Formats: sequence, C-alpha cells, structure tokens
Amino acid sequence: MNEHHVLGISGGKDSAALAVYMRQTRPDLDIEYFFTDTGKELPEVYDFLGRLEGFLGKPIIRLNPDRNFDFWLREYNHFLPSPQTRWCTRQLKLLPFEHWVRPMLMAGDIVTSYVAIRADEDYREGYSSKHQNLKVRLPFREQGVDKLGVSEILEASGVGWPEYYQWRSRSGCTFCFFQQKIEWVRLKEKHPEEFEQAKAYEKDALEHGSPFTWSKGEPLSALERPERTLQIMKDFEERKAREEKRRPVNPLRYELPVDLDDLYGCDEGNGACVVCHK
Ligand code: SF4
Repeated sequence: MNEHHVLGISGGKDSAALAVYMRQTRPDLDIEYFFTDTGKELPEVYDFLGRLEGFLGKPIIRLNPDRNFDFWLREYNHFLPSPQTRWCTRQLKLLPFEHWVRPMLMAGDIVTSYVAIRADEDYREGYSSKHQNLKVRLPFREQGVDKLGVSEILEASGVGWPEYYQWRSRSGCTFCFFQQKIEWVRLKEKHPEEFEQAKAYEKDALEHGSPFTWSKGEPLSALERPERTLQIMKDFEERKAREEKRRPVNPLRYELPVDLDDLYGCDEGNGACVVCHK
C-alpha cells in the first residue's frame, strides 16, 4: 500500500505558508502540491505560484477542470454562483481534486491531504473526506500557528505575501461573489477588463432570470457609480476604524494591523470556503 501526501495551494497566504512550513519541517515527505485552476483567477495568483515553486523547488501541479466556467454557467441556466448555490466550488475546485486522487484511492493507497486551517480560526467549511483512505490533516491547528505565525513564515522564507493582498484579502476567482463591496471597487480600479467581464456575466444572468447578482443586493452597474463608489470607500474606512477600536491591545505581543481579511464577517460578507480561499 502506497501513501501519498498532497497539499492544495489556493493562491492565498495560508496554503502558501503551509507549503513552506511543511517543506521546512517535513522535508522527508514527498508532498505533491496542487492548484485547481478555475480559469478565472487573478493574474497575480500565477505570479505568486511561480514564486512559491521557486522556494519549494518543484512544480505545483495544475488541475484543470474538464469543463470550464462558461460551460457550467450554461448548465446552471446562466445563474451566477452564489452562497446558496455554490456550483463553482463543486464543479471547478472539488471535482478536479476528486478526479485526481481517485486512481490513488482505487489502488488502495492512503492519501493524506494537508489543509491550512489556522489555530486562530474555526474549522469553517472545508473539504471533508468521503473515503476512508483519504485523511485530512490540519498542521497549523495542531501546532498552534495563527495568522501572525503565517505572516512570519512567509516573510522569513522570502516568499512574501501574494501581491493582490494590497487591495484584496483573499484568493479565489476574479469574480468571486464572496468579495466585499470595497474589493469590487478595487477590482474595477486594478483590473478594469475583468470588472467589465464580471458585469457582462451578471447582465446575462439577470436577463436569464437569475435572482443573484455578484454582490449582494446590487448589480455592479450600480456599484460602480461614482457616488456609490465613494460611499463604499467611506463605509470601508469606518468599518476598519471600528474594528481597530474593538480589537484588544496586547502589550506583550505584536499584532498585525487590521486588514481586509479581518473585516469579513464584521459587517459585510461572511466570506469564504477553505477550498478556494486558504
Ligand atoms: S473562489 Fe468564489 S467563485 Fe471561485 S470557486 Fe470559490 S466560491 Fe466559487
């Protein structure tokens, strides 16, 4: 019976830090790193994967779904994915992973999947094993590595943070509906073409009777109006200030400044799933 060790890279900071951590603490394990590519990723994600591959000294395997985003969009009657119907995660992230490990499991091998849930987070929604030979391990939780620890691992390794963290908090598809409104505003600023594409998908969905817009309660065409954009920016600064005030000060420990990631689940959005965003 063979044993395989696999680690999913999302393009975000936590899974990257876990890859670095495993490489440093368990060089004896021949870990296969993989990335499920939805075809709708930010360009910065690919740059970051390249940097990480340089550190790991091996390629990150790209798992491409057989059918792309547009195919599934048509299958789902042009309805955009949403927190209620998250077909994107199922079809573009989980299925390619299951197809990849299936032959290993069919051969009777054991597959250990390492997932980057930190010690300071709840085990929200993640991948739970449906096969007795597929084991899920959470090394950061087991070893008490929190958000500050993740930051230290990335800085010390030289890999650093993904570049898009300057304007967006999590990885995942360019159009992810889990984005906060301020992130849509910034997407328009940083990647206007992708924003226009998102608008086109949304228009098409609404014309097909979809009840969902990318951002809850308003279409992107409304969100991009100058007065609305200004309001969103103002709301964001206020939320950030509230979170900074709310956070207890610990004189014995340096804390990372409040960032976008901290504001998920604050007033807006409860964002994310560990499959895409870790
Ligand atoms: S990142 Fe967002 S849009 Fe992409 S698969 Fe995950 S939940 Fe869906």
